[in-house]
Amino acid sequence: MSDNCIFCKIASKRIPVEPLYEDENFIAFHDMNPQAPVHALVIPKTHFETIMELDDEALMVGAFRAVQATAKALNLTEEGFRTVINCRENGGQTVYHLHFHILGGRFMQWPPG
Ligand code: 5GP
Ligand code: ZN
Repeated sequence: MSDNCIFCKIASKRIPVEPLYEDENFIAFHDMNPQAPVHALVIPKTHFETIMELDDEALMVGAFRAVQATAKALNLTEEGFRTVINCRENGGQTVYHLHFHILGGRFMQWPPG
């Protein structure tokens, strides 16, 4: 847990959110500044600054399970969706607690900006 981390506060329920999905190690909730009709974030409850610090294989598998379960809960699996992990400055990361974006409800352009 990092005292100044907004996502640690969400993970520990000090800041309440409506969970879209939750298990022992992950919680998913709506992004407060959605970039698509559906924009959710899946975060580990443990603080990792970026994807590069995630070294626990059970959590790596769990992250994919949590993304799958969240996409299912949001009914995105038939039309499809995009999962994004931004890493540090060039990746456009603004919150330094690992998170998986799930974007859906519209066609996603490629390449990303
Ligand atoms: P990043 O740019 O780091 O990949 O994404 C951070 C995301 O977290 C942004 O899409 C931003 O809107 C979202 N965000 C930041 N603070 C909060 C918050 O307190 N609550 C929620 N629900 N989303 C947040
Ligand atoms: Zn954190």
